[in-house]
Amino acid sequence: MTSRNYDVVIVGAGSVGAPLAMSLSEAGVSVLCIDREASAGQGNNKCAIGGARATHSERAKVILGLRSLEVFRNWKDDYGDDIGWYQGGYTYVAYDGDTLELFRNNVPLQQEAGLNIRIIDSREMLRLVPGINPEGLLGGTYSREDGSANPMKCCYAFHRRASALGAEFRFGETVTGLESSDSSVTAVVTDRGSYSCGSVVNCAGSFATQIGRMDGVDLPVAPESHEAGITEPVARLFDPMVVDIRKAPGSANYYFYQHDTGQVVFCITPEPPIPGTDIRETSVFLPQVAARMTQLYPRLANLKVRRVWRGIYPMTPDGAPILDSCGPDNHYVAVGMCGQGFMLGPGIGEVMARLITGSSTDDDRVVLQDLRLDRAYSSEEALK
Ligand SMILES: Cc1cc2nc3c(=O)[nH]c(=O)nc-3n(C[C@H](O)[C@H](O)[C@H](O)COP(=O)(O)OP(=O)(O)OC[C@H]3O[C@@H](n4cnc5c(N)ncnc54)[C@H](O)[C@@H]3O)c2cc1C
Repeated sequence: MTSRNYDVVIVGAGSVGAPLAMSLSEAGVSVLCIDREASAGQGNNKCAIGGARATHSERAKVILGLRSLEVFRNWKDDYGDDIGWYQGGYTYVAYDGDTLELFRNNVPLQQEAGLNIRIIDSREMLRLVPGINPEGLLGGTYSREDGSANPMKCCYAFHRRASALGAEFRFGETVTGLESSDSSVTAVVTDRGSYSCGSVVNCAGSFATQIGRMDGVDLPVAPESHEAGITEPVARLFDPMVVDIRKAPGSANYYFYQHDTGQVVFCITPEPPIPGTDIRETSVFLPQVAARMTQLYPRLANLKVRRVWRGIYPMTPDGAPILDSCGPDNHYVAVGMCGQGFMLGPGIGEVMARLITGSSTDDDRVVLQDLRLDRAYSSEEALK
């Protein structure tokens, strides 16, 4: 079956593909978005715990984060859907001088990029997160405009708006190949048909490398397993997402926040990383993260954990996404979202839509320069 020609075919209706379909439709572009799952956001989008911040140490991610926060914050007023937005802020805690020094070095760059962030002392931290362990607490950072939202509600909302604007979605359909002639992709082939297109965008998350290879392009994106969990709901204990970037045996940073419906949601970064696509929950995760969380915030010891789950971070060597075209000029990539695809998705959708329609802004050019495919990948983000 060959259907009509689309200006743009997007592979993947996840954290990035769904908002991109919306932004392209807003620009009047005809869009087809294909996903092998049964509905939008069923890939890694649904594994995300919903943290949304602009607190990053790289300017491109600060810019994308700020714009995405604006979309999350205003969504209900603009379009009416409840996406679970809660502006609780983010706080990075410091219990040693090196960590505080790292924050002190980052904050000016973050402020310069437009982030409302500041260093707070231990007294203010104790007010912000009542019950946090005061022993050795030096303070940390606080960015009050960060927050959280529900990744599934967001993805559905983006999908609904994109559809209302005319975007087409085909679910339960797997992209199996790309057809090219001269130096252009001409059609996207699936297990159910073939769709001719003006451009294609690879938003395939942890399967991005497979799509790249269909055009002979090797993308530096590797899957890594990460686990998360959620407690029973309780009355509000604290507002911000709490991030502790200290390392401990078997883990690097961990973070937790209280959802707008009362549950505490949490995640930890395994150290060394666990490469691969295994999404079976482990018996290591819960004891490991619980010990660290209750040491930092003893009141959590009273909460029951309801559920844990495991998903994939599509990692790049430097922890930042890749936004570019690759191989043929009309083959675009928005891949390698690492642990931040949900929080950056709306901003990335807009930047990619303007790139494709030839209407990039000055800020977009900064982002696209920093996140291009042929960058050195030499730095590693401090606040990943
Ligand atoms: C435990 C955990 C917690 C996380 N917490 C957060 C968080 O708090 N905040 C945050 O910002 N991020 C978080 N993340 C990371 C976030 O989930 C990812 O960065 C994000 O979902 C990646 O977005 P994506 O659009 O690239 O991929 P996805 O959302 O996975 O979308 C890719 C889509 O492509 C489809 N696809 C792939 N191949 C094909 C094909 N051949 N044909 C058709 N369809 C295809 C898939 O079905 C999928 O729906 C977390 C991740 C995990 C695992």
